[in-house]
Amino acid sequence: MKQIYDMVIIGGGPAGYTAALYAARAGLKTVVLEKLSAGGQMAETSQIDNYPGFDEGIDGFELAEKMQQQAERFGAESEFAEVTALRLDGQVKEIDTDEGTFYGRTLVIATGANPRKLNLPGEKALIGRGVHYCAACDGMRYKGKTVAVIGGGNSAAADAMILSRIAKKVIIVHRRNTLRATKVYHEPLMNAPNVEFRWNSEAVQLLSDGKLTGVITRNVNTGEEFELPCDGIFISIGRAPATELAAGQLPLDASGYLIAGESTETAIPGVFAVGDVRTKELRQVVTAVADGAMAVHQAEKYLAKTDFGEKVTEKLAKV
Ligand SMILES: Cc1cc2nc3c(=O)[nH]c(=O)nc-3n(C[C@H](O)[C@H](O)[C@H](O)COP(=O)(O)OP(=O)(O)OC[C@H]3O[C@@H](n4cnc5c(N)ncnc54)[C@H](O)[C@@H]3O)c2cc1C
Repeated sequence: MKQIYDMVIIGGGPAGYTAALYAARAGLKTVVLEKLSAGGQMAETSQIDNYPGFDEGIDGFELAEKMQQQAERFGAESEFAEVTALRLDGQVKEIDTDEGTFYGRTLVIATGANPRKLNLPGEKALIGRGVHYCAACDGMRYKGKTVAVIGGGNSAAADAMILSRIAKKVIIVHRRNTLRATKVYHEPLMNAPNVEFRWNSEAVQLLSDGKLTGVITRNVNTGEEFELPCDGIFISIGRAPATELAAGQLPLDASGYLIAGESTETAIPGVFAVGDVRTKELRQVVTAVADGAMAVHQAEKYLAKTDFGEKVTEKLAKV
């Protein structure tokens, strides 16, 4: 007989593991399905300074491990599995993964966001061979080398900061003539001796001989193109929500995020969207963990008023 969890959580980022912590402590049989390792985007950064309780900041990967261990201490399970399809129409939700199907009385979608691609010719083939999306993950490969960071927002600025401590030279390529990132990044980047800026510029072509050798940038005002030789580029132009699984089953907003308010309830009772994957104003660790707690609060109310008895038994008989 297949096991039915009270709560299946897709995604082991801060939102997912906070839901797991609250669910396990509420006595709900809970599993987290994560395709990589705990932490999600949080694990990409080596220093989180705005999550309360760590007065000297904390490494994102370390915080992720702590969140996972804390949830598991109360009985939450973790499965290393990629979710490939959802069936949300029945009372028990069915979650297909590369490790088999999981069944949940409630489902929490905590799949977060993925880096946006430039979609230049050859970009996909060069991933890991000069093209990267996460400085904290891959920056160390460029010790003493020259790298370009594409973008001017918070992700790009954070990546440039990390890389400036590793690489010989960092060139920030940005479409505007000033950074879009919060002010806190401006001064350190402007003052870093190994950081240069290529303003009003976009990357239009990748150069390679099997691995990346440079990038062609175009001035957005004059149309002039320049060759920028470099050993690696870090594409930091924002994140796209990981909502493919729910597309067609749950409504998405204009930017592709799952529509759910502060209650984290989606259009389908018993299905909750938490963290960066849902429509919200501020995507941070602290707001992701708040969502995780809220989803369990709502799920408990939903479970209390929903009678799964016979329907679950019927369903299991067919499995
Ligand atoms: C470089 C960088 C630095 C940051 N710095 C800070 C900071 O200093 N402070 C701060 O508050 N926030 C910071 N953030 C933002 C913060 O990390 C995110 O807001 C937060 O991680 C969102 O949490 P989440 O749980 O919603 O999603 P995510 O962290 O994106 O986690 C989603 C998880 O779901 C998994 N997943 C997705 N699809 C599937 C699937 N089909 N099957 C199984 N698993 C799946 C992913 O592998 C991932 O582990 C930073 C982000 C980045 C990228």
